[in-house]
Amino acid sequence: MSDSIKIGVSACVAGERVRFDRTHRRNAYLAETLAKHVEFVPICPEIACGMGIPREPLRQVDCAGEIRLIGYESGKDLTAKMTKWAHRVLKGLDKEGVCGFVLRVHSPSCAVSKARIHPTDGKPPHLGPGFFTRLLQEHDPLLPVVSSEALQNAVLRENFIRRVFVLHRWRALTAKGVSIGSLVDFHTRHKMLIRAHDLRGYRELGRLLGESTLHNAETIFDKYATLLFKSLTLKATPSKNRDVLSHAAGYFKKDLDAEDKRELHAAITAYAKGKVPLLVPVTLLNHYARKYRRPYLTQQYYLNPDPAELQLLNHA
Ligand code: SF4
Repeated sequence: MSDSIKIGVSACVAGERVRFDRTHRRNAYLAETLAKHVEFVPICPEIACGMGIPREPLRQVDCAGEIRLIGYESGKDLTAKMTKWAHRVLKGLDKEGVCGFVLRVHSPSCAVSKARIHPTDGKPPHLGPGFFTRLLQEHDPLLPVVSSEALQNAVLRENFIRRVFVLHRWRALTAKGVSIGSLVDFHTRHKMLIRAHDLRGYRELGRLLGESTLHNAETIFDKYATLLFKSLTLKATPSKNRDVLSHAAGYFKKDLDAEDKRELHAAITAYAKGKVPLLVPVTLLNHYARKYRRPYLTQQYYLNPDPAELQLLNHA
């Protein structure tokens, strides 16, 4: 598997003039920050499945529960064409090792969740994923997806980045085969990270690993992946992070003097109140983890993310 992180992007968001009216919707964060740390795989589903520029806008129509992709004015039905193309392309994306997707908000093809879907009975449209995104998520439910709009929100952006890097590590793990020993090691190194997102999910994952035997490794891997990525979709809020940081601080109960303890707890509290970034208590904990030799803490991805992940997480 390639070491570089690959992310699929709606081509118009990557700055390509592929929209129906020959415009683009370049996303500055994508072009100026994310591009320095990951490799993009730009895709325009409408162009790729044979439509030109300029072209007629599309809309999704809910035909008794079956969503179809239809030309806005002509009524031309592109459902079969787009579906056939997508199934072929999605297999290619698997081979490329794409670990996430940034998709254009509101698009009938690419939206994550805000595309209009028009009922045939004249009722107002409801919102749902774009036609390509629905196929993408059916094909790989674990794949992190985010809208270009959500990248402007620090919490949603960090959640996406975390999931992309965890998926990259997950793929590296599974590429080596299915071994419960390596799964336990993977889980151990992600414990703090998972707890920061979902304490209940963290406990469920621990219970699941307790059920592993020599004979059920594949089932455990499948269940673990589903539970893990479900947990990581939950937001790591300041109060959840504070709990994880305080738990980690407990590892130094006997090492730190009163002043150092006060300083560490002050950093955690300042973070929880939004006065300093997460990096401040994390850096302090890392310092003590190395000084007092706490391998459980030094190996945590929560405290020591991959270098590119760290830079992206600390981008203001
Ligand atoms: S939103 Fe998707 S289909 Fe529309 S122009 Fe952008 S990449 Fe192409």
